[in-house]
Amino acid sequence: MALIITDKCINCGVCETECPNHAIFPPAEGWDYAIGTHLEGMVSFPNGESVNANKIHPSLSYDYYFIIPGKCTECVGFHDSSRCAAVCPVDCCLPDPDHWESRDELMSKKKFMHDQ
Ligand code: SF4
Ligand code: SF4
Repeated sequence: MALIITDKCINCGVCETECPNHAIFPPAEGWDYAIGTHLEGMVSFPNGESVNANKIHPSLSYDYYFIIPGKCTECVGFHDSSRCAAVCPVDCCLPDPDHWESRDELMSKKKFMHDQ
């Protein structure tokens, strides 16, 4: 499953540069699928979701750093464990039960975003 950042976040920014998928963004910042991946233009994810990878979406949080579930792979394909959770000084990067995916699904997403 994707991870989620809770309201315990102190906005230190340490996690952002650790994410291999560029799935973490600062508060109030717009986000897209293209940054930090090989995705460009209209793409269809393995789960069937079609998106414009270059479209800038509104921030998910105006108070704290946030994670885009569609880009988070739990670091599968890059690391043995979630880097954001490993480096967060206040342990506020937690599994998000609303975005459960199997390891195979996470690996497929990783390959789709980076190995095309
Ligand atoms: S678990 Fe890994 S891929 Fe997901 S947001 Fe954290 S660092 Fe990024
Ligand atoms: S490392 Fe933790 S406290 Fe720092 S910005 Fe990321 S989620 Fe927030």
